[in-house]
Amino acid sequence: MKVDDVIYTGEPTELDLAPDMDALARTVSGCRRCGLRAGCQQVVFGEGVWPAGLMCIGEGPGADEDRLGRPFVGKAGQLLDKILEVSGFDRHRNCYIANVVKCRPPGNRIPEPAEREACWPNLRAQIRQVAPKIVVLLGATALQGVIDPQGRITRVRGHWIEREGIHFMPTYHPAALLRDPSKKRDVWQDMKQVIAKYRELVDPDHYSPHA
Ligand code: SF4
Repeated sequence: MKVDDVIYTGEPTELDLAPDMDALARTVSGCRRCGLRAGCQQVVFGEGVWPAGLMCIGEGPGADEDRLGRPFVGKAGQLLDKILEVSGFDRHRNCYIANVVKCRPPGNRIPEPAEREACWPNLRAQIRQVAPKIVVLLGATALQGVIDPQGRITRVRGHWIEREGIHFMPTYHPAALLRDPSKKRDVWQDMKQVIAKYRELVDPDHYSPHA
């Protein structure tokens, strides 16, 4: 599934027509469009404020997220919160966080292309509710699920991709930083671009403690 001309254009689905994010979350909580729902405890829809100038999209829930019903609350999530904090963002104040698939893949395996595609209408409707100017794509699955099924994160990270007025910044997933801390420097470079773009498009007075 590609994002070209498909977030805001084309026939809106029933999900796209949800009156607000809460209504959309209630609908998605009953989703069984792929087999992942059968093996998880609950749908992990997303968290944050909407509309928001910034949205972050990751891969899918892990064990902690599945247990608590919230995205990015395990070790990788805590690192994401820190990255956002030093960039002047906070999921409770000025950004929204979601995943490509809303149900935990068994054993934390990478979601399969068919699962990503099954969950795309949920994510598309969610993006429409958030109406972000900037989307940070965290890792290969987010890149492949939203922009290019064949996309390579090592090749495109740090480069803006613009679609339908949204600026997408692919970067490494925080879990990759936990495995290889040397990638932190690249992510910080990418986030500095995000901060600058946010000041350009959303809030010229955006405060970041470190950039
Ligand atoms: S992963 Fe997405 S498409 Fe699959 S059942 Fe869960 S919410 Fe539905």
